[in-house]
Amino acid sequence: MRFDIVTIFPELFAPHLTQGVTRRAYESRQVDVRLWPLREFATDAYRRVDDRPFGGGPGMVMLAEPLESALSAVHADRAAGTETLPVVHFTPAGRRLDQALVQEFAAGNGAVLLCGRYEGIDQRVLDRHVTHQISLGDYVISGGELAALVLLDAVARLQPGVLSAPSHEQDSFSDGLLEGPAYSRPEHLPTADGGADAVPEVLLSGHHGRIARWRREQSLALTVRRRPDLIAAARAAGRLSTEDERYLATLEL
Ligand code: SAM
Repeated sequence: MRFDIVTIFPELFAPHLTQGVTRRAYESRQVDVRLWPLREFATDAYRRVDDRPFGGGPGMVMLAEPLESALSAVHADRAAGTETLPVVHFTPAGRRLDQALVQEFAAGNGAVLLCGRYEGIDQRVLDRHVTHQISLGDYVISGGELAALVLLDAVARLQPGVLSAPSHEQDSFSDGLLEGPAYSRPEHLPTADGGADAVPEVLLSGHHGRIARWRREQSLALTVRRRPDLIAAARAAGRLSTEDERYLATLEL
């Protein structure tokens, strides 16, 4: 899959694309990332990509023409199959990014990602070209680059072979619930009063069935306390077993 990223700050991407477990997805081009520096598509000698908003008001607006030129260049470079290519605009006004949307992109062929800056992008570009508007959440950041990186990272880690074990299958949201706690060595972590915090006994038992059931129960308990909406959604989708329901009924909330 290929992601074409239109940005005024292409240098923000390299540190993220060359580190961590997702690096091999980018380096092998399993997730092929191409950067399109927007200033190269500016039409004036000053490489301007923004101007004052019509009607007045604070801030600047990203100009339509450089963005349209960049989009044309992306389409020409990709040559075939661009009619159905998603064009994503990151904006607080978009659909909140969640694992279901990440999974849609992870199963697709990529997208063009438009990174807004300043007060945003000339509305006519959005009306003409954008197919998906995506928000990171109900807060405002300074540009779409971080949002693009969040989407890329979430998509890259789902690609086959990127994680050494398919640990994303146990990640939060993959089955609609939050993932429960994890422990590692030492078995007993000393406390200030001379005692120790121990790892739950079941995890040392070697009994895979009991460990799996314990993890499921921890996941249910955490989710019902922190995100009861997710429990309701899992129930509505028929993803809770009789055993899950029996366990939930024992919890004092
Ligand atoms: N004036 C805009 C508004 O109030 O919606 C915010 C502009 S913000 C300073 C600049 C750019 O950052 C936006 O065009 C968008 O691309 C990106 N951005 C800001 N907050 C975002 C969020 N919550 N999710 C996704 N992108 C965001």
